[in-house]
Amino acid sequence: MKKIYPYRFLLLRRFFQISIIILFILGNTSIIHFANTSHILLSGDISSFASDGKNLAVSNTKTHLFDQPLLLGNLSASKALGFIPLTDPLAFLQILLSGGALSLDLILGVLIIALIYGVFFGRGYCAFVCPMNLITDLANFLRRIFGVKNTRFLALPRNTRYAILVLSLMLSLLLGVLAWEVISPISMLYRSLIFGIGSGIFGVLIVFLFDLFVMKNGFCGHLCPLGATYGLIGKKSLIKVKHQVDRCTKCMRCVKICPENQILGIIGKTSGVIDDSACIKCGRCIEVCNDSALDFNIFKLLQKENK
Ligand code: SF4
Ligand code: SF4
Repeated sequence: MKKIYPYRFLLLRRFFQISIIILFILGNTSIIHFANTSHILLSGDISSFASDGKNLAVSNTKTHLFDQPLLLGNLSASKALGFIPLTDPLAFLQILLSGGALSLDLILGVLIIALIYGVFFGRGYCAFVCPMNLITDLANFLRRIFGVKNTRFLALPRNTRYAILVLSLMLSLLLGVLAWEVISPISMLYRSLIFGIGSGIFGVLIVFLFDLFVMKNGFCGHLCPLGATYGLIGKKSLIKVKHQVDRCTKCMRCVKICPENQILGIIGKTSGVIDDSACIKCGRCIEVCNDSALDFNIFKLLQKENK
């Protein structure tokens, strides 16, 4: 237990990220009954089935692998436990602006997501749900191991993600398509994971190489409009990291590990909560602090205690 404790948030994050992927894969897996035999079919993956000379059109029945999948759909729009709709807020805005059909499920789904992240978890989606975090964390890990430095030829402000968010919405309105979804490496990665579509892997590779060789935390920390959306939704969320300066030895390990370290200006200077919407609630700063100067806090209690 002592060995696991320093990695508690990392393990929790990996547990959630991988479980969600597995649940989506299982939820989207069907059984096709064809000529008295059953074939397991990943949603969308009809190529192997058809290439065996079988014709889906004459297959008898298609049923879900489970009667009641825990998660059905994908990260953009899904149903949990068969009845709770969940909608990606950025996808929702793009559908709205592009003139797409809005079902009651989509509307309820975005309200539920806004409530969960707006009240509690803020940008925690990035650390606990988004599969891209697995890729960008790997790039970051390799950067640390091999001492890779940022290229000098590109300097992007962190706010670029908000500009991309606005641009995606404007293009959705003007062109009538879900502009960000067309090029989103997150959607590509998810489609590859759930439906086995191989070409999406190129988008993921570009993000990985960009984060590894060009810019530390380049994609999530500077470019991704989905992370920006969750940051805006969760601006007033209750779960925050708190800092107690009387315990801090100013080793700055937290600042070195934080993927959004521009938000850690109070470290070693004053007690308080990290009140910036860019915090992804990953808990890395808490894990690396050997002086117990950082912890998660709800309701900003510390602000009253330690001023
Ligand atoms: S910033 Fe974007 S890609 Fe990165 S973890 Fe958040 S939603 Fe995913
Ligand atoms: S402040 Fe801590 S919890 Fe927030 S993003 Fe940085 S390392 Fe993660």
